Parts: sequence; structure tokens; C-alpha cells
Amino acid sequence: MSKRKGNDVLSGAGAPEGSMAAGWAGERSDILKDEFGLEIPVENVPIPSRGVIYPPEHPLHMQETVQIRAMTAREEDILTSKALIKKGTVITELIKSCLIDKRIDPNDMILGDRNALMVSLRITGYGADYHAEVACPACGERSKQEFDLSALPIERLSQEPIALGSNIFEAQMPKRNENDPNLVIRYRHMTGYDEQEITQTQERKKKQGFKSDNLITNRYQQQVVAVNDISDKTKIQMFIQKMPTRYSLALRKAMDSNEPGIKMKAYIACPHCSEESEVSMPLGASFFWPDAD
Ligand SMILES: [Zn+2]
Repeated sequence: MSKRKGNDVLSGAGAPEGSMAAGWAGERSDILKDEFGLEIPVENVPIPSRGVIYPPEHPLHMQETVQIRAMTAREEDILTSKALIKKGTVITELIKSCLIDKRIDPNDMILGDRNALMVSLRITGYGADYHAEVACPACGERSKQEFDLSALPIERLSQEPIALGSNIFEAQMPKRNENDPNLVIRYRHMTGYDEQEITQTQERKKKQGFKSDNLITNRYQQQVVAVNDISDKTKIQMFIQKMPTRYSLALRKAMDSNEPGIKMKAYIACPHCSEESEVSMPLGASFFWPDAD
């Protein structure tokens, strides 16, 4: 940050070149600080994947953390932009806007790493208290709960990729007997681009009058890159459509248990039946708009 004192800017004298240093490319933070005494904090956010899935030329390759600056009113414009909401790109634009290193494209980050940024941005912007309504798994009644976002645990990779710097993992399919084939499925963890592509495919199908109820196979088609040494897209698609559910279950388990990210779950005490249970934290409007609830 600039070391200049607070009130010597009107003269223009002593405004050193490079006072916008500290990674604030393009930001007019010096004026904010010098004239209003405001300093927008920069935070180091842990990257759940530790960057091992990004290729060597990627800025996040082998990085434990990434720098973001706290949200400002400009990001509230993004959060309320009807055009971005319609396109479904609000979170991507929000992350892009707050990343200090502008070489990073949030769309080629995996979802878990994006979630870590999203939660950190919420904490720097509005604090770690998050109020949301959830249904009790025991009795079904809904109640308002308070979540502490800063307490959400980080989940790490439980298995290494096939090579450092690649987003490709292997899952061994179960064999019931020796006549079963030996099948190893190679898959990737979903990125922002993958998610976008799935959403677009579903929208297209909906417009053509198809019901978009093939969530599981769509996801596999996006994530599976090879079955044994076969990587032909059409052949993989056929395999996915026809694979026995025991393979599907094994694949899903492997993908889920190995996916790095933020565990968006917490324990709640139900005021209706006083049962304590773990629930998924809903991402409602008040996540980025605390007064909305
Ligand atoms: Zn209950």
C-alpha cells in the first residue's frame, strides 16, 4: 500500500508514480485512501485444490492461496445486474471483478475453488453471519437458522491427479467376479465452463421441447474423459448411457469424495422437534444481499 499521508493530495505534489502499486492494477485506491481515508482490504483466500489441477502455465498452478480485494458498491452493481442474472454469470463476474491477478479466468477454475472465493467475498463484504431458512431433515419443518461462514471447513483432494498440473483423476470400477471387465474411468472435476455448458445444453433442450431430466448423464458426459484407453466422445457417451448403476454409483462416489472445495454444510438444532442434524446450507438471495431476508 502507499505510504503517503492522508491529506496531501490536493496539491498534487508528492503524488509519486507507482502509488497504485501493491497489485491494484487499474484501481484508483490511492484517491480512496488519500481523500476519504478508505483502504479496501486485500485478502489471501485458500485454494481448496492447492492449485495441483491447474497446468504449469496457469497463474494458480501449485498456489495455496489467491488474492482478492473486498467487495465494493461496484460489485453490488454486478449482483443486481438483470442482464448478468439472466445469463447466469453473476458469480463469475463477481469473482473476476475482485481477483487481484487479472490473468485468472474464474471460468476455468473448478467449482470448489470458485466456491471458496465466493464465500470469502461474502465474508469480506457483509461478514460471516448468514441467516437462511432450511427444512429440518427429521420433521420437515422450516426454520430460520444462523450459519457461520468462517467456520465452513475446506475439503482437500483425497486422491492425486494422474499428473501434477492436470485435472484428470482415475476411478476403478468394482468387479463382482473375474469375468467382469477391468474398467478404469478417467474424469475431471467440473469447472465454471463445464457448468455453463451444461446449463446451456439444458436450456437448448428445453427450447426444443425436451424435458431436461438427464442431470446425471449430462454431468458424466461433461466429466468423463476416458474409459480405459478409449477417449472417443461418442463411444464414451454410449458407455455412459448404458453403464450399470453399480458403476455409476462407484463413479459418483469417487468424484464426490475426491472433490476439493468448501463444505457447505452445518449442524442445525430444529426449533420444532429439537433434533440436531446436518443440513446443506442453502444459497438464497440473502447470501449476497443480507437485508433481503
Ligand atoms: Zn425438526
